[in-house]
Amino acid sequence: MFTLQKTHASGARRGTLHTAHGAIETPFFMPIATKGAVKTLSATELWNLEQHVDATTTPVVLSNTYHQFLRPGVDVLRHFKGLHAFMGWKGTMLTDSGGFQVFSLSHLRKLTDNGVEFQSHIDGKRHVFTPEFSMEVQSIIGADIWMAFDYFPGYPATREEVEHSVALTTDWAKRCKEWVDAYHTTTEQSQQREKPHQLFAIVQGSTCTDLREQSAKELVQLECDGYAVGGLAVGEPAEEMYTAIEAVTPHLPTDKPRYLMGVGMPEQILEAVKRGIDMFDCVLPTRNARHGTVFLHQDDQIVAGDLSQVRYSKLNIRGEVMRLDTQPLDPYCHCSTCTGGLSRAYIRHLYTVDEPLAARLTSVHNITFYLQLMKEIRTAIQSQ
Ligand SMILES: [Zn+2]
Repeated sequence: MFTLQKTHASGARRGTLHTAHGAIETPFFMPIATKGAVKTLSATELWNLEQHVDATTTPVVLSNTYHQFLRPGVDVLRHFKGLHAFMGWKGTMLTDSGGFQVFSLSHLRKLTDNGVEFQSHIDGKRHVFTPEFSMEVQSIIGADIWMAFDYFPGYPATREEVEHSVALTTDWAKRCKEWVDAYHTTTEQSQQREKPHQLFAIVQGSTCTDLREQSAKELVQLECDGYAVGGLAVGEPAEEMYTAIEAVTPHLPTDKPRYLMGVGMPEQILEAVKRGIDMFDCVLPTRNARHGTVFLHQDDQIVAGDLSQVRYSKLNIRGEVMRLDTQPLDPYCHCSTCTGGLSRAYIRHLYTVDEPLAARLTSVHNITFYLQLMKEIRTAIQSQ
């Protein structure tokens, strides 16, 4: 269930998303644990990190059906009664349906109206994903929020391909909704106060605004628990991404959460928030950390109070110029890396000698930076 508390003059929304594992204040960012771990961090460490930034909101993580299906596999997940227990996560979890990964990672795909046959990118084994099977795997993973199985047409795509993607995505979302409705009526879990599993549909339509609108209108008919905008941040110019979001949000119900998948840079997140988006995920904080790129405050606040801009810079911590730098990684940050007495020179040294601790320290910082960004966005919306 989603409660919208306030809409800011800019269009930004402030609300609360209630899940079986707690209430999350929106807008929020989900760190990515595709394979069952946010890279270099344990679930307890991630929980403490999220609570350290804002103890008033439930920590949240994102995982992925395609990756969990391949490894560890459904037998292991079933044995442990889901990924929460397997990875030791007590917060909220969302799983992507695997649609995007089947089309972007796997080999030799065969697409039919029923689903998609593909070869694993790991061992070449053949598998078939249908909307129903994606739901079944997500039910075994046991996440709080399940994403409908969608068809991403790639980018760039012809208009014909995008039309096909929208039609198939609507048809598959209907089948997902029917599967989830039947699941909830046959499990005891449906007696719980909060719906144990929520289904979000994914709007496709690439950069064609009329097809984005059509996709949104068709999916809203299904009365899902939330709506995502998918198939963006895949190489299109940022302005086209914003235009696509603007084509979708006016057609979504105001009392349901909206999730922009896979976005993005801090300024893109702020722009999307002002277009009415509530939820985000992105690999950037952790991927950049592994490559030695650090998000830095410019002063003690990332977001201008009026939501006009984000203020930050990026630092290459591996640079020679860091060799004798005695400053903490980010002097304005309150994370354990920045307050633990470590210098930039020491962290650079860890990268130079390939110590795994390097990526870990900067991951803690970069994730904290993103969570702090969202907290400041929430405060700015609230204060006006
Ligand atoms: Zn820090």
